[in-house]
Amino acid sequence: MLHEKLSSIYDNVLRRNPGEIEFHQAVREVLESIGPVLGKHPEYAESKIIERICEPERQIIFRVPWLDDRGEVQINRGFRVEFNSALGPYKGGLRFHPSVYLGIVKFLGFEQIFKNGLTGLPIGGGKGGSDFDPKGRSDREVMRFCQSFMTELFRHIGEYTDVPAGDIGVGGREVGYLFGQYKRITNRYESGVITGKGLAYGGAQVRKEATGYGCAFFVEEMLKARGTSFDGRRVVVSGSGNVAVYSIEKVAQLGGVVVACSDSSGYVLDEKGIDLELLKQVKEVERARLDVYAARRGEGATFVPDRNVWEVPCEVAMPSATQNEITGKDAATMVSNGLVAVGEGANMPTTPEGIKVFLDAGVAFGPGKAANAGGVATSALEMQQNASRDSWTFEFSEHRLQEIMSDIHDRCLQTADEYGMPGNYVAGANIDGFRRVADAMLSLGLI
Ligand code: GLU
Repeated sequence: MLHEKLSSIYDNVLRRNPGEIEFHQAVREVLESIGPVLGKHPEYAESKIIERICEPERQIIFRVPWLDDRGEVQINRGFRVEFNSALGPYKGGLRFHPSVYLGIVKFLGFEQIFKNGLTGLPIGGGKGGSDFDPKGRSDREVMRFCQSFMTELFRHIGEYTDVPAGDIGVGGREVGYLFGQYKRITNRYESGVITGKGLAYGGAQVRKEATGYGCAFFVEEMLKARGTSFDGRRVVVSGSGNVAVYSIEKVAQLGGVVVACSDSSGYVLDEKGIDLELLKQVKEVERARLDVYAARRGEGATFVPDRNVWEVPCEVAMPSATQNEITGKDAATMVSNGLVAVGEGANMPTTPEGIKVFLDAGVAFGPGKAANAGGVATSALEMQQNASRDSWTFEFSEHRLQEIMSDIHDRCLQTADEYGMPGNYVAGANIDGFRRVADAMLSLGLI
């Protein structure tokens, strides 16, 4: 239920941003959490902080023309939504996927504001991307697309202005092509303009692993808070991209057994535990589908085409594919199968109905804003290393990540307690992230 004042703000968001359903959903979730904050802090309402936060500071939409391998002209649409720079330069990834449109970029950018606030690091919120589909494209096509995309984007970004990174469809390969073009156009070796770079040219240790590792650390903290651990627990991770792969790696190191993961063709069930080296070979090197994994893994592993991975019973679920992949119905099945904890590696993978089912059932539910914040937090560490022309060891970087995740966890719990909602990480994350941004905005005058 929405507080009266918030409900009129929400109606306005609907009216001003027609058709952008993912953005509406992301705004509503935050507004539902911050009602009690307004009671304690009338200054937020008086200065219309919430209305201002819901309106991006700047939105850029541009044409991306490029030539495919047959010499044919292709045209895609590029986006960068610079949402909020109260805490630092706009920070957030780029998503290349055919589903990308303004509503997706705005939902991701909006989430990023609070997620970045929650890390306690000096980064604002932004997001970008394109409806370009890298699937089935050659390396040369991906390079030409990235070069064309950056030929427009470069004028809007910079180490102190806006710092993109990866997201779905944008990994090390794409970041390399993007940075190469930025460097060429500007004639500046400005490492801190983009994060997720390769280790050979200014990237940071643990950045590649950070979202997945961080999510596993967050779940470990939630389990610890309930007096238990990953040890021997049955885990399902959806997706098989960067976040999924490194969640699987860390969960295994922490003693859990990941029995299934998925891609858009179906899921693989591997009761002995997913073989990570084989998964990396199939997904990262060959860019192939999971049926290839199952065929090579042999006995014990089954590929289940076109089915939903959430039908596989598990005690810990780490949705790491994409938005709205867990419905209310999926959540009910998962609860009846004995679910204990959920860590969202993806952004907004659980629908509002699904979240309600988890919270009502008393499942430890770590929302993406908190549980997957390790990625962007490690991007901020990459920026820090670039600014000081330094590079840290793997061990030190991983230790920093672990500290950051445990701080975020504790802050969510404390804030939820403070507002009389013990154990509710959704409320804790939204309220703490919101307060940080709102307080900075209040101090900066009418921005
Ligand atoms: N795309 C990631 C996220 O959703 C990382 C963003 C970044 O590192 O800037 O948080």
